[in-house]
Amino acid sequence: MDSVQPIFIMPDDSKRSSGKNAQKMNISAAKQVAETVKSTLGPKGMDKMLVDSMGDVTITNDGVTILNEISIEHPSAKMIVEVAKTQESEVGDGTTTAVILAGELLKKSEDLLDQEIHPTVIIKGYRLAAEKAQVILNNIAESISEHNNELLKNIAITGMTGKGAEVAKEKLSDLAVNAVKSVMEKENGSINIDLDNIKIEKKVGASVEDSEIVEGIILDKEKIHPGMPKVVKNAKVALIDSPIEIKSTEMDAKIQITDPGQMQSFLDQEEKMIKDMVNKIIKSGADVMFCQKGVDDIAQHFLAKKEIYVCRRVKASDMKKLSRATGAKIITNLDDLSKNDLGNAGVVEESKVGDEDMTYVKKCKNAKSVTLLLRGGTEHVTDEIKRAMDDAIGDVAAAIKVGKVVGGAGSIEIELSRNLDHFANSLSGRERLAVQAFANAMEVIPRTLAENAGLDPIDVITEMKAMHDKGKKWAGVDISNGRTIDVWKMGIIEPLKIKTQALSSAAEVATMILRIDDVIMSESNKEGGMGGGMPPGGMGGMPPM
Ligand code: ADP
Ligand code: MG
Repeated sequence: MDSVQPIFIMPDDSKRSSGKNAQKMNISAAKQVAETVKSTLGPKGMDKMLVDSMGDVTITNDGVTILNEISIEHPSAKMIVEVAKTQESEVGDGTTTAVILAGELLKKSEDLLDQEIHPTVIIKGYRLAAEKAQVILNNIAESISEHNNELLKNIAITGMTGKGAEVAKEKLSDLAVNAVKSVMEKENGSINIDLDNIKIEKKVGASVEDSEIVEGIILDKEKIHPGMPKVVKNAKVALIDSPIEIKSTEMDAKIQITDPGQMQSFLDQEEKMIKDMVNKIIKSGADVMFCQKGVDDIAQHFLAKKEIYVCRRVKASDMKKLSRATGAKIITNLDDLSKNDLGNAGVVEESKVGDEDMTYVKKCKNAKSVTLLLRGGTEHVTDEIKRAMDDAIGDVAAAIKVGKVVGGAGSIEIELSRNLDHFANSLSGRERLAVQAFANAMEVIPRTLAENAGLDPIDVITEMKAMHDKGKKWAGVDISNGRTIDVWKMGIIEPLKIKTQALSSAAEVATMILRIDDVIMSESNKEGGMGGGMPPGGMGGMPPM
């Protein structure tokens, strides 16, 4: 009998690792992502300085910002980055927490794998634990209503902690709560908060304390002609997404002019075309126009003569906001513009912020739209304040929407851990070990908070556990002295949604990674995005930690 020839189903150059090897490498890559952001967790977390390929510097403490900026190549490491992104879009805060939890769940699973527990058993246990955790978290949480201003402010402050916003936390937390409340809408019993209605505008200059909330929309634009009115009351607003100029044709035409008369008639012709465009705007009855494109000098002159307030090159995102706020329709073809497409604003006004003119659109028909004007000494400051405010606003909104909040500083994690441990004891079989591991993994949050504050995590956690055993469910880490505090009294409060979301996506990605026992990478992929193959240190440029 002939010996059977081996069959190659994959090209020679594809890289493959399978079984335990694949698992180990995936886990290790994912853990490294968690390690990268770990040192930023909590009020005493450190910042990272990120320098992109253009040399631009970002200094931040924000988990998702860090992971977005560094280039991560390992496929399972990328899956962890997705966890941060989901957290960012679902809640806006808790990105570091979610990533650290995912890393810790995987770390604990490694120990179980070493004890020869099969991945499917671990996956089953983790699923059980994750489901139970949702129930437990909901039970532990306290209720909150939108009327509880003090609590909401504390939530905003907790969300901003450690993000360079501390200096003005009173002021900024007020702004965050007010902004969320002013865009909140109640519809037969349910609360709807569309954070797109909050516009954040940064302006360097003055101090953070000078930040303010303005009803309506602020555009970083001035009116384009000095002859235009500074204020328009009861404004009828046109939103135009087409150029009020001629030169922007796609074609490259060459016009040969042979005598001066021709030149004049050519210019006359151009002026007439622009005048026609302007007339369409005038005819609609608009006295304010926001144009997403350019506006020709001649057009500016005619518009100014008719006392129409005009801004040009308005950002597309701002056009959308203006449309929502004023009720105006964005028109792409001037011929379509009619009275019915116009929106309303009580006041459109040019006003100075620092030494620059900005346009305020206030008292809109649909008033559910506000702008936070953030000030700060340098761009790095305003950037980081904006990120802090994004988190705080997300937290306040999540707290009001879900109506439930929990204590922070590791208290909720310890309480959850205890409850999950009880649950594990009710189980038989090997899943029990996985549920216990899941329960233990929760401790990573208080441990990291303590470590980042330069404290001995073992002491703190031991004391916390003792307090929780005595029924003090809100005993958390006191980062100033390594003892425990009642976080509820201290106002360290977070929306429940941060925790439920972080936990479910962390558990999901951990089980997803555990289920992989074979990684096959084709050569072309390696050269493309995936880069350096599968070595444990496969993450772009970060030293192993
Ligand atoms: P994330 O990206 O996960 O939101 P943060 O750096 O914002 O990461 O840290 C959030 C953690 O810091 C939460 O566990 C929160 O409870 C904790 N925290 C916030 N304020 C305090 C405080 N004053 N003392 C102790 N822990 C705090
Ligand atoms: Mg946070």
